[in-house]
Amino acid sequence: LGRHRDDRRQTGFTYNGVHFDQDNLNVFAGLCAVDTPEHVDIMMRALAEHNQPCTRMGAYKPRTNPYSFQGHGRGCLPYVFETAGKHGIRVIAMEITHESHIEEIDECLEKLGRPTGVMLQVGTRNTQNFELLKAIGRQKEYPVLLKRGFGITLNESLNAAEYLASEGNANVIFCLRGMKTEAGQPHRNMVDFAHVPTVKRLTRMPVCIDPSHSVGSRERAPDGIPEVMHATAQGVVAGANMVLVDFHPKPEKALVDGPQALLMDELPAYLEDVAQCHELW
Ligand code: PEP
Repeated sequence: LGRHRDDRRQTGFTYNGVHFDQDNLNVFAGLCAVDTPEHVDIMMRALAEHNQPCTRMGAYKPRTNPYSFQGHGRGCLPYVFETAGKHGIRVIAMEITHESHIEEIDECLEKLGRPTGVMLQVGTRNTQNFELLKAIGRQKEYPVLLKRGFGITLNESLNAAEYLASEGNANVIFCLRGMKTEAGQPHRNMVDFAHVPTVKRLTRMPVCIDPSHSVGSRERAPDGIPEVMHATAQGVVAGANMVLVDFHPKPEKALVDGPQALLMDELPAYLEDVAQCHELW
């Protein structure tokens, strides 16, 4: 995926009717974790009302604490995929933490007649899980969203992308999601969106930003705008090709990362601001 390897290869790809490349922009607003069928429906319905064909939604959650909610797993896949089909959602970014999850997703989609598509997400905790990367790279059905490792060099994370490509899957989007720093920072992670153009210079991959996991709260700046939106603006103006962002109908009820989820009534303004920032870029 590095530019130096073969500059003639294409940067972009189309999956389930949605195009991804280094020149366009797709927003994946959605739930951090699937919790109830009702919340899935509210989220997807709102996206459909705003002509959004993509969402994010986790069934398999990698949690720091083993006693925290670990995701509904395969049990929620049927209603997530059926609801997506009902609302015309074409691509769901969904993290997997084990290679067996690829088969679970594939079997369920097949059984339902493929009402939607899935982009397999590799989370920051698994950026250097080389056997998982190889397994995901071996399949070519699903594109991959690879998160930057939060405590390794950029080059090491880019090498993780090469693991996917070297096994045969070059439909990879690279996601900046902030870096871990010492405790006490105002944000959950140090926002690293200045690296958007750098990754685009160094590689052919479309670049995603995850302002929710970077900032980690829906605090508002003195101008009344959520800091998640400020971080989004920085990344989009810098040339981001994809935005992964958490929303929730009832953040206080969310089973994962409620404090960083934006509210549903903020969705229209958020999408409008992203579109305006995209024009500036
Ligand atoms: C997520 O996107 O749900 C997630 C857990 O992100 P990260 O791997 O960046 O922590």
